[in-house]
Amino acid sequence: MSVSSVVKMSRISKVFRMGDSELRALDNVDLTIDAGDFVAIVGPSGSGKSTLMNMIGLLDTPDSGDVVIADQSIKGLDDDTLSVLRSRTIGFVFQQFNLLARTSAAENVGLPMLYSGAPYDRNWAEKVLSAVGLSDRIDHTPSQLSGGQQQRVAIARALVNKPMIILADEPTGNLDSQSERDILDILVQLNQAGITVVIVTHELEVTQVAKRVIRMRDGKIVSDERQSPKYLDGMKATSADNTTKIRLYDTATPEPEQGLAMKIRKAKSYSSEALRSVTSNKIRSFLSILGIMIGVAAVIAMLGLGAGAKKSMENELSGLGSNLLVLWAGSSRTGLPGGGNPVRLFPDDVEALKTELTNVTGIAPTVNGKAMIQFEEKTWNTSLTGSSTAFASLRSVQPDIGRNFTQEEETSRARVVMIGRTIAKNLFGDKDPIGAEIRINRIYFQVIGLLPAKGSNGWQDRDDMVVMPLETAMRRVLGYETVHSVDIQVDKPENMPIVEKQIKSIIQHKKRLSDEKVDDAITVRNMADIQAAISSTNKIMSLLLSIIASISLLVGGIGVMNIMLVSVTERTREIGLRKALGATRQDILSQFLFEAALLGIIGGALGVSLGWGSAKITAAFTNWPFEISPAVVGFVAGTTAFVGIIFGFWPAKKAAALQPIQALKHE
Ligand code: ADP
Ligand code: MG
Repeated sequence: MSVSSVVKMSRISKVFRMGDSELRALDNVDLTIDAGDFVAIVGPSGSGKSTLMNMIGLLDTPDSGDVVIADQSIKGLDDDTLSVLRSRTIGFVFQQFNLLARTSAAENVGLPMLYSGAPYDRNWAEKVLSAVGLSDRIDHTPSQLSGGQQQRVAIARALVNKPMIILADEPTGNLDSQSERDILDILVQLNQAGITVVIVTHELEVTQVAKRVIRMRDGKIVSDERQSPKYLDGMKATSADNTTKIRLYDTATPEPEQGLAMKIRKAKSYSSEALRSVTSNKIRSFLSILGIMIGVAAVIAMLGLGAGAKKSMENELSGLGSNLLVLWAGSSRTGLPGGGNPVRLFPDDVEALKTELTNVTGIAPTVNGKAMIQFEEKTWNTSLTGSSTAFASLRSVQPDIGRNFTQEEETSRARVVMIGRTIAKNLFGDKDPIGAEIRINRIYFQVIGLLPAKGSNGWQDRDDMVVMPLETAMRRVLGYETVHSVDIQVDKPENMPIVEKQIKSIIQHKKRLSDEKVDDAITVRNMADIQAAISSTNKIMSLLLSIIASISLLVGGIGVMNIMLVSVTERTREIGLRKALGATRQDILSQFLFEAALLGIIGGALGVSLGWGSAKITAAFTNWPFEISPAVVGFVAGTTAFVGIIFGFWPAKKAAALQPIQALKHE
């Protein structure tokens, strides 16, 4: 007849040091517990009972001596190996139940299966709950259960992995006497089903049903009595006492899941845990992600509006003909019209350019001003451009209905005008405006053409304008003597530098400017210059944006880290429980990283919506185009998840490193 021992402890000591005083909680204890026994540990408070239980349960390690559980010595085993061993062999029942709040009975019972790798099977969880008499409380959360029922859920949780041993430390300490009898009855039946039961107790009833009673005092075993033969002495588990109502051990456990299936299941569980944790503290979670949210919103809004502005600028530039040079009065150093010490450009300067320049295919001097248009009873304020016939082709605004003005009309200062679509719509509605008489600043004009639709460029409606011959505008309407700028089209790109030099020297000569003064007086720009200026502005914008983004994400990340540290502290007991149920460091780490990533993602998502929404509104009010690609949104969301993980790592690592017993004792 062979007797198999499930627990074998030899010369176990545990000393707690507090200040200079030493407390010998366990003093050279030897203890062997055989399979199928029902052991009650009794003794005065502080005698070392819980410390001993924690050693048996591998929650704590002795200072000296060895513990052998199921033929496995724990000497030299690391944290994670202990966790695995624990989840396969031991089921815990605590005095304080230690159920997860806001989590159903079935899910609480299924928790150890997550860590042991047993495929989660709700039917099995239900079956175990039924075995402890809770078939009608499966979806109740702990707050909806009485103390006795909660303890039964805890017992079901201890049973779900079919442990060899059930360890119960004062399981009835917080219960009324009826619940106490129920729990005791369940433990007796479990023992009859073949499970070894070790229970710490003060209750007389328990010591009466136990088969072996161990008394402790001052960290030592002072007596060890056998009251009845330990069950299974020389027998096999299958020939168990048929009186038991609990038949859980008849069913075979499925093989543990491995690899990907296991990873997916854990990922699912961690995500729903993270969601539960985040949503159970909605306001706090929201405040913690505020930083990320605002940062992301700012970045999205600015990126969107920036991209829109850039696109509209490109549209406008592409509307200009190629090989175009623009001459304007004012310094080239500031790059803006009118700066420096500008010359006045008169029509005869333009004539000089026309006659002296070579390699040029078109010249269009322009003036700009405001105009009030009247037609019948209607009035419309718009902007006015006066230029030469070449303007239409140089700026790609050939009228698509009607015609351009002629050279003749230009010379004779004819009162003819081309109008943009917006004006046509507002003054004429569906009527044909061609040939109509309108008044511009109270002077009669004939409409001869309709400018092609150009849309908005973000700052202005480019269809809200009129174009008329240069001198008509200067002399009849605006009363200007000078032109604002001159567009010059060069025949071939390679001639651009030559023409540029020619323009400068013609004006310099005509205005008698010294070499030093010419750059202060006029500016000649080509499209490449203008494009380069725009793209360098864009680069500065992007740099500023990245700085804003980094700072806001840093601040946001610290917000997440802060709240994760709070969360870890608050949930220390839960972490201890999870470790007691078999969670490894990696399990705890992953769980908290999921939570941090979730916070990051929520912050990112809210930020994207906020930024997108406010940019849309701004765009609607200001006529600025707004454009953002899904790729950018995806990238931002990914980044915020990453930020969550980075800043959540330290708190998560802190959680993972907690020792199970210290965590469980945390107040
Ligand atoms: P009990 O028999 O009441 O369960 P314990 O095993 O909990 O006793 O404790 C045994 C002794 O060890 C007690 O005096 C207790 O104060 C002390 N003790 C237990 N845990 C710690 C600890 N983490 N730090 C310091 N002293 C401890
Ligand atoms: Mg105790």
